[in-house]
Amino acid sequence: MKAISSYSDALVFAMEAHRGQFRKGDPREAFLSHPIRVAHALVRQGLCDAVLLQAALLHDVLEDTAIPADRIRAQFGEEVLGLVWELTDDKNLLKSVRKQMQVERAPGLSLMARLIRIADKTDNLASLEHAPPSGWSLTRQREYLAWSRRVVGRIRGTHAGLEAEFDAFAEEIDRKLHSKV
Ligand code: ZN
Repeated sequence: MKAISSYSDALVFAMEAHRGQFRKGDPREAFLSHPIRVAHALVRQGLCDAVLLQAALLHDVLEDTAIPADRIRAQFGEEVLGLVWELTDDKNLLKSVRKQMQVERAPGLSLMARLIRIADKTDNLASLEHAPPSGWSLTRQREYLAWSRRVVGRIRGTHAGLEAEFDAFAEEIDRKLHSKV
């Protein structure tokens, strides 16, 4: 019961934080679908730790909303907040620098942050496959795939099941992107 309530607390917090936000893809989808799928991917692998799942549901809150870190700390504690911070890019930096930093910082992530990072990358690739952002050229999609592979490549050996899921999506989308010329 405690685990369920800790999960639903984070779910409702994420829902309110991301209210009115949509994923980049076309067809349009509520942003909240993404953290829910990331958490679900962990659950499917038997990774049901309460802190891990709360952080998975909240992993984009600091990066993509104006909610202050203090609110996450007050409601979910220092450990969850620390994980969310690990997964938050510094938006003051140029996008290209941020992307490079994600590659470089990946091996330094804690185990829980790495698990979330892999599930996050898998879901972003799945979205690229099912609902590519309108206006993204093939080149841009291929670059995104290559970058995702670089990030996950730095943290291989974290969790075989999550990595296999990532690889399956990466291969599928690779085939799709290279069948279009
Ligand atoms: Zn994410």
